[in-house]
Amino acid sequence: MLPIIAVTGNPASDQNGAMAPGDGIEANAQITNAVVAAGGLPVILPYPASPQQAAELAKAAAAAFAGFILPGGPDVTPALYDAEPLPGLGATQQPKDEFDIALIHAVLAAHKPIFAFCRGIQILNVALGGSLYQDLPSQVPTALQHRQETPPSRPTHHVTIAAGSRLATFFGASAYVNSRHHQAIERVAPGLTVTATASDGIVEGVSDAENLVLGVQWHPENMWQTDATQFALFQDLIQRAKN
Ligand code: MN
Repeated sequence: MLPIIAVTGNPASDQNGAMAPGDGIEANAQITNAVVAAGGLPVILPYPASPQQAAELAKAAAAAFAGFILPGGPDVTPALYDAEPLPGLGATQQPKDEFDIALIHAVLAAHKPIFAFCRGIQILNVALGGSLYQDLPSQVPTALQHRQETPPSRPTHHVTIAAGSRLATFFGASAYVNSRHHQAIERVAPGLTVTATASDGIVEGVSDAENLVLGVQWHPENMWQTDATQFALFQDLIQRAKN
């Protein structure tokens, strides 16, 4: 039996004019292809239009699927970490935020594995009580270029990996990663540990005490095709989902 891996859905871009904005749900096929290549069955998990059903649906999803991918996606609603929106904030989708938060709590309560990247580690941090930089270029002028101009499959900056972390078992002391984010973790949530850091101090990886979470700020879905270590992160999720 292939473990079923739920990839949380994003609002889809309208390709044929038949859908109003927000009507569609999508996932990046580079992610679902990685799950297939690593030996899992991917499914796209939509978020409900009404957050009233979020908790019930999240609990059912946590029971139904073996592993979870929280991918990149829209900016996170600042009100969810008690902040006001700054000028650099991008488009947000609060119903998705609220469902993702409910899902994270339900999945962790069910002791099932999560692989989170980009927005995924940001919403994870917010779900567990942390805060975010809404827009790195305007809030952290000393930061590196985290929204790279080079193709997404190419690494652009290094990260230092924490010794003894799960990430270190794959990368050792450092990794050379891509970077397509303008938000980042600011205050780290209680319960999360920083496992990777860029040279400007920006958090690029997190884990939890139980090692249910493997979270990175970069985009392994754009690199696994040519980088065996990035692919190993997907294989790791499948392996943990089988246990
Ligand atoms: Mn980065």
